[in-house]
Amino acid sequence: MFGRRRPLMRLLGFEIRFDLTWLIIVALIVFSLSAGYFPAAYEDLPTSTYIWMGVLGASGLFISIILHELAHSVVGRHMGMTFHGITLFAFGGAAELEEEPPTPRVEFWMTIAGPATSIVLAILFYVAGMLLVWMGTPAPIVAVISYLVVINVLLAAFNLLPAFPLDGGRILRAALWAWRGDVLWATRIATFVGGGLGLALVLLGIVSAFYGNLIGGMWWFLIGLFIRAGASMSYQRLLARHLLAGVPVRRLMKGEPLSVSPSLTVADLVEDYLLGRSMKYVPVVAEGSFVGQVGVEEVRRIPAGERSSRLVGDILTPADALNTVSPDAEAGAALEQMERAGRNCLFVVAAGRLVGVVTRKDVLQYLSVARELQPPSGRAAAHPAE
Ligand SMILES: [Zn+2]
Repeated sequence: MFGRRRPLMRLLGFEIRFDLTWLIIVALIVFSLSAGYFPAAYEDLPTSTYIWMGVLGASGLFISIILHELAHSVVGRHMGMTFHGITLFAFGGAAELEEEPPTPRVEFWMTIAGPATSIVLAILFYVAGMLLVWMGTPAPIVAVISYLVVINVLLAAFNLLPAFPLDGGRILRAALWAWRGDVLWATRIATFVGGGLGLALVLLGIVSAFYGNLIGGMWWFLIGLFIRAGASMSYQRLLARHLLAGVPVRRLMKGEPLSVSPSLTVADLVEDYLLGRSMKYVPVVAEGSFVGQVGVEEVRRIPAGERSSRLVGDILTPADALNTVSPDAEAGAALEQMERAGRNCLFVVAAGRLVGVVTRKDVLQYLSVARELQPPSGRAAAHPAE
């Protein structure tokens, strides 16, 4: 869902990262605050003051977003959930869950913590603003504080829209889930509403662009698309996890994989395996133990002239927790591991020995058959956003 993310800081044990799209938004918000919002609301201040107001306002906005996401993460962690950290991106922030909440109760409390924090922030900024006015603080500072009151109210309100994957949609799902005890059905309804709201925002964007509000219109259009994609992806992911529950990697892997020894020369590897058998990568096994992988990517770094004198053992990528999986692991977990690591295959290793290879294609193929075997109502709803 995100491009390459860069670390920003660590807070309360969570890593806060940003996607490159976020930098564009930071610049855009500083610009629109200092050239549009503040000059329109408070006339006749020096340009440098407007710029400072813009920078302070944008900083306050992002701190508010981080605190909102941090609230989800802290409450979630308290209830036993694992997070990958918080990512800031074009449309705000996201606290990335490792897995879906186990019960509606956990989902409800973890979710409500975000908007509740935004509302508390709005109240705190409001009280601070009143105090500053009473103390006779210069207007620009009061103006920034007032902006932060408004922005936190908007953050809470927008996130409470009952459209999955927004917070309000998660709360709706938790309620439906608690009512009927069926998480798939609850998710289907909440993502259906999410898809509908996304479509409404897309149309709103087109209409307002048509009436001259080009930037605002484009913004709603993109947020609408984002919500639709998020709704569809969340449901697909949940359905995949249900269909893959109890299916071990062992069942989907290909056993007895071809492997090479670390003492093979790189030239022979290219000739006999990569080109010879059209393989992009080969597992490397030494004395019966899996030691790593070697393939196109590793070979490309070695100049052609050196390939007959270099050995596979010198250039291989060693075995680690990202490229290996146990045969008893759930296939769903393996799929998520591949997605997280940006890989298309995992080496299946039991007690240090290579027993098979499982690819993304193997898992997706199984999923697609399992999905088609679902009753028609389940299948029709498997594409809520199409
Ligand atoms: Zn939230």
